[in-house]
Amino acid sequence: MTSFNLIKPYFIENRRKILWGVFFLVAVDLAQLFIPRIIKWAVDDLTYGNSKRNQLLLYALYIIIAALLMAICRYFWRQFLIGTSRRVEEGLRNRIFSHMQTLSQSYFIKTKTGELMAHATNDVTNIRMAAGMGMVALTDALFLGTAAIFFMIYIDLRLTLYALMPMPFLVMAARYFSRKMHWKYQAVQASFADMTEVVREKFAGIRVVKASTLEERSYEDVRRASMDYVEKNISLTRVTGSFFPLMMLFTNLSLAIVLFFGGTETIFTRITTGDFVAFISYLNLMTWPMMAVGWVISMIQRGKASLDRINRIIETIPDIRECPAPSPMERPPALIQFDHVTFSYETTDSGYKALSEVDLSIEKNTFTGITGPPGSGKTTLLRLIPRLFDPVAGAILFDGKDIRSIRRDDLRSFISFVSQEPFLFSGTIAENITFAPYDPQDAKLVTSADAACLYETILSFQNGFETLVGERGVVLSGGQKQRIAIARAIYHDGPILILDDPVSQVDAETGEKIMANIRKEFYRKTVLIVSHRLSPLKDAQKIIVMENGRITESGSPRSLSKTSGYYHKMATLQRLEEEHP
Ligand code: ADP
Ligand code: MG
Repeated sequence: MTSFNLIKPYFIENRRKILWGVFFLVAVDLAQLFIPRIIKWAVDDLTYGNSKRNQLLLYALYIIIAALLMAICRYFWRQFLIGTSRRVEEGLRNRIFSHMQTLSQSYFIKTKTGELMAHATNDVTNIRMAAGMGMVALTDALFLGTAAIFFMIYIDLRLTLYALMPMPFLVMAARYFSRKMHWKYQAVQASFADMTEVVREKFAGIRVVKASTLEERSYEDVRRASMDYVEKNISLTRVTGSFFPLMMLFTNLSLAIVLFFGGTETIFTRITTGDFVAFISYLNLMTWPMMAVGWVISMIQRGKASLDRINRIIETIPDIRECPAPSPMERPPALIQFDHVTFSYETTDSGYKALSEVDLSIEKNTFTGITGPPGSGKTTLLRLIPRLFDPVAGAILFDGKDIRSIRRDDLRSFISFVSQEPFLFSGTIAENITFAPYDPQDAKLVTSADAACLYETILSFQNGFETLVGERGVVLSGGQKQRIAIARAIYHDGPILILDDPVSQVDAETGEKIMANIRKEFYRKTVLIVSHRLSPLKDAQKIIVMENGRITESGSPRSLSKTSGYYHKMATLQRLEEEHP
């Protein structure tokens, strides 16, 4: 029951509404239970021949009043109870989202986006259904069911026992079928997701498909996916199709029993004709609660399972945590040190080490270049500085202080980071650079865009800085995205500038220009640039060569070119390429 604590606050917060909701729900049930009594009075009056029109009119009036009462109260309980369940849903979804944002990158590497989406949608919906309709149906079923049985017993105990005989089977069948329907429904949903994905993929890759004349295969894949969807749907219909007839069968069985035994009782005048008719009405009232019990039990079970899943996420502790009493840091560090830093993406002991015992010092306002073959750990090394990950062993120190003890917001405020695959969110180009709505007065925006060799490109777009990018905007090339990310870093002007292969996707000439612009900042910034091409690093005070997660060479470009290591080999190779393109 611990997961229930997750939604308890929302129930407590809305307890007034819940109480009112239950009040109106019970009022509806009472009115409903009153109707068979009225029928009994009317029928008895008719059979004993002492009915007058006025009397009948009164009974009719009672029924109208009960019906009105039911209509009004029904409206209110829906408002109160379903409204509450929506609020529980909202609170829970916000809670999940804000928690997910605190989790570190390693969690998102392990968990697929689709899975997270499923938690934020399906699981939350399941919980809402259980908390809303589930609770309603349960209250309703318990109250209405018990009251109806009570009235039936009041009429005739033995007849009640007979009539209820098929009921346990009805509950069991309802439970069995609602479970089965749920699984089938899930399968339909999954199949629908698959089909959408197949179609999406085929359209996204239509150019490749056409270029390689794969249309036949493509068509076959889509056909197969849609066949599967149809089959799953038919399979669901088979279950729903047999559910309701079966329910009717059980109810009619009860009716037959009551008709025979109740009829007999009436003949022997142990009960009145009115009682007999009322009894049948109560039996009808019973049917829904009985079905509901089976249905609700599985709904609540589903909600519970979802709640447990969400609870597991909420209990996932972010591994990049703020330490209990982080110390503030006002000025950017004069010295950044890596002290025996070891890092592995896998949490198991046997995990491959992306970095092993890296020692490195970076002084303020210097330019350090990092190079090395792909997969050697360059990107990983950069990621540890803003604490996207924490080292497995060793530490990174700012002015001798472990960065884990520094306030994370302070730490990150020093750093402008351009990652290898720049990420643009949907919005305008200006928003992607400044993180704020476009301001035509913003001169810094223009200079930053210019420094990233982006300004002319932006002017060539019809909407300039207000051009939309992302899913619903223009399609940008890799190089354009990279330059937006560089402009973003220049705009935010952190004293520590970290660039991960920033000009890998722009042509050599533009790359050269961008580097020249960045170089202007060198005297007042600490700059760290990863590049597989060596030309952007030629002005670096220090170059580090990484191989297999270790630093294998370090020194000035000049001193390194005199050795016979990786740097020397690459420098020779790249010079040859430039001379003989
Ligand atoms: P580089 O930037 O030098 O190409 P990386 O730092 O990206 O190298 O990668 C170093 C090693 O870590 C590689 O073996 C790579 O496969 C692994 N690696 C990189 N990113 C991840 C990740 N997100 N999850 C797991 N392994 C990773
Ligand atoms: Mg990399």
